[in-house]
Amino acid sequence: MATTKVPEVRDITRIERIGAHSHIRGLGLDDALEPRQVSQGMVGQLASRRAAGVILEMIKDGHIAGRAVLIAGQPGTGKTAIAMGIAQSLGPDTPFTALAGSEIFSLEMSKTEALSQAFRKAIGVRIKEETEIIEGEVVEIQIDRPATGTGAKVGKLTLKTTEMETIYDLGNKMIDSLSKEKVQAGDVITIDKATGKISKLGRSFTRARDYDAMGAQTQFVQCPEGELQKRKEVVHTVSLHEIDVINSRTQGFLALFSGDTGEIKSEVREQINAKVCEWREEGKAEIIPGVLFIDEFFIMATNRGITRIRGTNYQSPHGIPIDLLDRLLIIATSPYTEKETRQILKIRCEEEDVELSEEAHTVLTRIGMETSLRYAIQLISTAGLVCRKRKGTEVQVEDIKRVYSLFLDEARSSQYMKEYQDSFLFHETQTPPMDTS
Ligand code: ATP
Repeated sequence: MATTKVPEVRDITRIERIGAHSHIRGLGLDDALEPRQVSQGMVGQLASRRAAGVILEMIKDGHIAGRAVLIAGQPGTGKTAIAMGIAQSLGPDTPFTALAGSEIFSLEMSKTEALSQAFRKAIGVRIKEETEIIEGEVVEIQIDRPATGTGAKVGKLTLKTTEMETIYDLGNKMIDSLSKEKVQAGDVITIDKATGKISKLGRSFTRARDYDAMGAQTQFVQCPEGELQKRKEVVHTVSLHEIDVINSRTQGFLALFSGDTGEIKSEVREQINAKVCEWREEGKAEIIPGVLFIDEFFIMATNRGITRIRGTNYQSPHGIPIDLLDRLLIIATSPYTEKETRQILKIRCEEEDVELSEEAHTVLTRIGMETSLRYAIQLISTAGLVCRKRKGTEVQVEDIKRVYSLFLDEARSSQYMKEYQDSFLFHETQTPPMDTS
């Protein structure tokens, strides 16, 4: 008889949501790195997607170190979408971290810390873990509740496999899993040794169920032939930042949910780096380079033309010092045609599960061309809500008109501000407007 302890494992569940770029599944390139007109959620923007494909190959071949990529183009021309496409093409578990330049200037942490966290969020660690899946017939389950009122439970599970009868100490996780699956003696179950998860396969027979004087529940049964043991490889990908947070004594892993991770001590990072290197050498972990997308900042995305370099009196293209510009690989994006805008809006409607009538689609496309693609995308879910409110199943032109009048695009909003600025608090009519370029 062998006794096996099952370790307790914490599951961290990610919350998936429909984000602005959730329809982007890659760069939409064929094997020869030629962009398909519409593929993987990407529409048009062919030249920049082809360039992004070259960058992708460089990343895969490990030739990107020491370089940075600048994606330049007008607002809403898909710069973020392309960066996202690069990350997606590198593999489904490639970390993609997007942050706005302004987020670096936070009150809670230094700029260096904010950047370190961003970089470490963009580096994934794929951890391989061997787990055993054991399949067998339940011989006996014994769950004791030693003291009333504490809610504490302890227990043992005897499982018969082909080789032997094994007794497991039931941790809380396994007890929960047992009651969820309503396992009784006689059931054929599998136990994942890494997580303690129990799944029921089929039942043969149950013989008896007794409760002793202490309230412990005991089940006995005779057992037919047991079953096999399987080995399985479980792969988790976490970012270096997540490992930092989990191991930071001052924060604890709950900080991952609140996002309020504060500053991480440099000793913690050094220890993690050493540990990850060790895992790598032992073949237990792989490093996955991800994509860090810094928006409205001088590294990765810009919609600025020739302008003043912030904090100086020099002018330069994109407001970026020439020597830095010289080291960048620049991808340019260009405005979309009406057909492409229509197609992107169609993909977004599918993503957001909103049905649009043909005419509504045409009107929305027109809005996209005349205001901005992003504004038109914002109208999809709001028009969908208005449509549902009137118990409709398909968004009609009327719904689009309604949300168009409810929510202002940038041009109408500026117009409104000009007309009514006197009524706002803190208006400054004497001094010239602040230079934010
Ligand atoms: P800004 O300069 O204002 O930050 P941007 O160039 O980064 O803008 P995105 O945010 O990538 O623009 O694009 C706006 C929206 O349009 C996003 O939801 C994006 O996913 C979608 N989009 C842009 N280009 C494409 C494309 N070629 N194919 C599919 N969707 C796209």
